[in-house]
Amino acid sequence: MRLQLYNSLNRRKEEFIPIHQGQVGLYTCGPTVYNFAHLGNLRTYIFEDILKRVLLYNGYRVQHVMNITDVGHLTGDRDMGEDKMEKGAQREGRSAWEIAEFYTRAFKDDIARLNILAPDIWVKATDTIDDQIALIRTLEEKGYTYQTRDGIYFDTSKFADYTKLSHQDIESLQEGARVEKNPEKRNATDFALWKFSPGDVRRQMEWESPWGIGFPGWHIECSVMSMKFLGDQLDIHCGGTDHIDVHHTNEIAQSEAATGKKFFNFWMHGAFLIIAGGKKMAKSEDNFLTLENAFLKQNLNPLVYRFAAFQTHYRKPMEYSEESLQAARNGLQHLQNQVRQVTQNSAGQEGTINEALKNKFLEAINDDLNMPRAMAVVQEMLKSSIRDADKHAMIMNFDRVLGLGLDQVDKPQELPAEVQKLVEERAAARAGKDWSASDRLRDKIQELGYLVQDTKEGMKVIKK
Ligand code: AMP
Ligand code: ZN
Repeated sequence: MRLQLYNSLNRRKEEFIPIHQGQVGLYTCGPTVYNFAHLGNLRTYIFEDILKRVLLYNGYRVQHVMNITDVGHLTGDRDMGEDKMEKGAQREGRSAWEIAEFYTRAFKDDIARLNILAPDIWVKATDTIDDQIALIRTLEEKGYTYQTRDGIYFDTSKFADYTKLSHQDIESLQEGARVEKNPEKRNATDFALWKFSPGDVRRQMEWESPWGIGFPGWHIECSVMSMKFLGDQLDIHCGGTDHIDVHHTNEIAQSEAATGKKFFNFWMHGAFLIIAGGKKMAKSEDNFLTLENAFLKQNLNPLVYRFAAFQTHYRKPMEYSEESLQAARNGLQHLQNQVRQVTQNSAGQEGTINEALKNKFLEAINDDLNMPRAMAVVQEMLKSSIRDADKHAMIMNFDRVLGLGLDQVDKPQELPAEVQKLVEERAAARAGKDWSASDRLRDKIQELGYLVQDTKEGMKVIKK
């Protein structure tokens, strides 16, 4: 079965055909690094990782670019409010540059813990300022821009197809945009390409430009980076559904206005993670859960979250609750036990791939990344009457898409001597019912980057 993906541009599932045979250019909008990523953000990156792994499973070579937004994303999303980076810097009493570096590292740690494959190219917005200025100049030369007291704006009325991604009529889009009070804008949907530094305050991040000292608008970085690093291989561009009406709509307008060519062929959007009851998870809300506080600090393996994300199709809202988390925890443990069993039963034997079951799996993932169905096929395969050695070969093959580290379940972990010593001390403390020493030693082991789990079979220590 050929790969079918839902394309937000045409609002239907379409067969995916890349621009150049055998290879795919993939661009995924990255984090704004003023705070930790929350579980909602991470759901979107898991969906994008599944997409990438499915492309690889189908035999494509994938060139994947992700940006790091370290300047220009304002709290209002529409060019008003404070710069999120400068706000983060004030909150923490550090410089905007330090904040960017700290949260970029935290983001990279988070995605590694979730077995998300790193992009081939990471780019920071602040490393492409000259290219961004050049693109704005092109738009200026082509007559798409105008200047106000606070910046250079893109005139959306000059771009005929402005609503082609959002599919809203222009009136409703403008209505949505009118919350922002900027009387100098010609149309409510116009957006900033370059913003001037305010006259009275010195910004930490600002650059010279042909129009005056300032910083780029939020959307221009993604146009620049995708065209710079993917060239004409503009196949798939992804993000969360919140990006459709503003960020991606504006990226398309400015890119196509500048080049006169179609920007990406496929636009894919992941639905939100919501807290039971319906509220979306957002950095500005107090329902902000991170991998650190919801998993690592609770001694929970972060891959439980990855497993949980497979239970809901990426275009449907995913509900987060204690119950769904518990179900995922049990589900992952069950799967690991099944894999451990077939691995032990078939030690030393070569397995073969059962084509009928493999095709069923492929049909599920190629049907717009239907992971709930793919997980059902995984269970069908493990419960089937094929040999354990074949089950083992097949689950390892499927894990190229699942990314649950299933090849590790039966491997004893080599612990560094320092950790091993603490583990032994903790076992002794527990045998002597010295719970406070046991807790203290657990914290020490965790500080060294290992998770401690007390199970029925005894203490388990795994790398975070
Ligand atoms: P940001 O770091 O705010 O720029 O967002 C990073 C990514 O997370 C973007 O693709 C957003 O669309 C996505 N996102 C934001 N909130 C949520 C949420 N509650 N659920 C899923 N994705 C989200
Ligand atoms: Zn973007």
